[in-house]
Amino acid sequence: MRSYFYSVHLYLHIPFCHRICPYCSFHKHTPGGHDLRAFFRAVAAEARRAVDVHGCGSPRTIYFGGGTPTLPSRTVLAEFLDEFREIFDFSRVEEWTVEANPRTFDAEKMALLRDHGMTRVSLGVQAWDEATLATLGRDHSPDEARAAYQILREVGVSSVNVDLMFSIPGQRLATWEATVDEMISLNPDHISAYNLNYEEDTEFFDRLSRGEFRTDDENDASFFLLADERLTAAGFDHYEVSNYAKPGHHSRHNRSYWEGADYVGLGPGAFSTVAGRRWKNVADTGAYTILAAAGQLLEREVEHLTADDLRRERIALLVRTAEGVPLEVVGEAGWEAVGKLVEAGLAHPPAGGRLALTAQGRLVADSVAVELW
Ligand code: SF4
Repeated sequence: MRSYFYSVHLYLHIPFCHRICPYCSFHKHTPGGHDLRAFFRAVAAEARRAVDVHGCGSPRTIYFGGGTPTLPSRTVLAEFLDEFREIFDFSRVEEWTVEANPRTFDAEKMALLRDHGMTRVSLGVQAWDEATLATLGRDHSPDEARAAYQILREVGVSSVNVDLMFSIPGQRLATWEATVDEMISLNPDHISAYNLNYEEDTEFFDRLSRGEFRTDDENDASFFLLADERLTAAGFDHYEVSNYAKPGHHSRHNRSYWEGADYVGLGPGAFSTVAGRRWKNVADTGAYTILAAAGQLLEREVEHLTADDLRRERIALLVRTAEGVPLEVVGEAGWEAVGKLVEAGLAHPPAGGRLALTAQGRLVADSVAVELW
């Protein structure tokens, strides 16, 4: 076995979904005429090449995202997972997450992933009431989501995250409160609670532009603060604006992004950043499958990041975390902002060489980051 000492994180994008959600801006589509076996053969070919070119043969974290990584059949997944395990050295893997959607897996499929080394599942539930799920265009009911969650527990997945969304059109604060309470009663290890974003090139964005939907900062704040209060009281650590964890269940893969670690992305539309060079793979699954299988170049939109670009990016991501931003990365101009943020109740007084935001500050984390540049 080859050995690698380079610390890197691995992401694999699997773009297939049974139904397309109207708010989603990721690279995704229905399986349509795609040959899933050929797709995974292409991923394996890209992975082998990436190990040689980028030295990513011994990753520390792995994340299968999408799309819906649990959509392919057990047979197709099993073939791919066997090959995936031959390509990489798993001795240093600390966490391996697979995103999953209700209705796309059973206990056998989950056990297969677990037996190949997966340690963590991120379950896309989004809401626990029929009306909100219908608005979001999700293809599962609350009962199906509950059944999916139970499967994860029965199979013994070590760490389970549930994704939720708030500030959805028509969603009232009382509905969100019931969703948060239901979540607490199910006792997952981790909860991601995202404010709905209206991303360009989505149906929701068009509806917002037409005036059918509207955004409301005060409403967003009420939803955010309710989740913060309830979930922290229930023993979750609110360790990043959108992320809550029980002790020992903080996401290592996400933390590596926030810390500015290198990562290699496989699959169509996946991003990679290695030694200040960032690129995006061709975001066309058909073209990707042909090019990757033939060992051709997949990189598109290559960007060279300067040390200052990386520093600013680090501030923008770390300011969202409970640990906060190390003061040594705050720019000269940002020093003046530190005092003002503390005075305004948006940040705690610096401690341990870091600046962390209060709950009020986290509501405006993106604009605070710009002040610290
Ligand atoms: S299931 Fe997930 S990836 Fe697929 S369309 Fe919906 S939000 Fe997007």
